[in-house]
Amino acid sequence: MENKLYYGIDVGGTSVKIGLFDGLALLKKWSVPTDTADGGSRILRDIAASLPGPAAGAALAVPGAVLPDGTVNRCVNLGWGVCRPADEFSALTGIPCRVLNDANAAALGEQRLGGGRGYQDVLFVALGTGVGAGVVLDGRVRVGARGTAGELGHLCMDPADPAAVCTCGHTGCLETYCSATGITRLAAQAGRPGMSCKDVMDAAAAGDGVLEAVVDRACDILGRGIAAACALLDPQAVVLGGGVALAGEYLRLKVQHAFEKYAFHACLGTEILLATLGSDAGLTGAALFAADAP
Ligand SMILES: [Zn+2]
Repeated sequence: MENKLYYGIDVGGTSVKIGLFDGLALLKKWSVPTDTADGGSRILRDIAASLPGPAAGAALAVPGAVLPDGTVNRCVNLGWGVCRPADEFSALTGIPCRVLNDANAAALGEQRLGGGRGYQDVLFVALGTGVGAGVVLDGRVRVGARGTAGELGHLCMDPADPAAVCTCGHTGCLETYCSATGITRLAAQAGRPGMSCKDVMDAAAAGDGVLEAVVDRACDILGRGIAAACALLDPQAVVLGGGVALAGEYLRLKVQHAFEKYAFHACLGTEILLATLGSDAGLTGAALFAADAP
């Protein structure tokens, strides 16, 4: 990355996080509220109005599928339908702009500058309200033909479980067990309703046997899903991020244990690591993606 100015812009459903980078150095970061009224039509203008000046490039990380040509195929949380936000942003600001999926941006940030630093082939798994993932191979984010590469959250782990209803319309998807929502659902099923995911993780780590069984089940399913992904992709490392991964080493060891139980023997050397960039992963990856523009 040359020493030029780039904006990394992580567009979330409640706020937009923006970072100004000089080469790899984060100079400044700020956020603006996400105005989802009128189909999210003011979001890009609000971002543009907050920028301190011109830059060599920018990239938008968005919560939706992004096709290889920069067409966004709906961002429900922003109110956006099929659109081309990078083109609109460039027209507003005069700054060359690209767009990528937010989990893919976080994957690139973690691979290049975070938990996966030093590795070229990284699977990043974001354990949040849902489960997102991003695939980086040879140091490049892989988007896929329809922008859905790395949709680990929708691997079908148990189609016969009627309680595991997914937002995508199927049942038994990985994220119905392993997301924060999934873990609180499993806790409620085990007789502990109304707990936050963090409370479940903390109580399990403190020795609550019922909740430890809940966390073990979620980690077993996650480890099985990661083993399947590694059989296909064979990354050097898997990086666990998102709010659930704030449980740290407690979670990482359980996922590694499950991974080793299910992985193809030749994949057993795969490193299971924790993310290090926290909520800056998306804006960092977006800035890197802007600087990688062909
Ligand atoms: Zn699903």
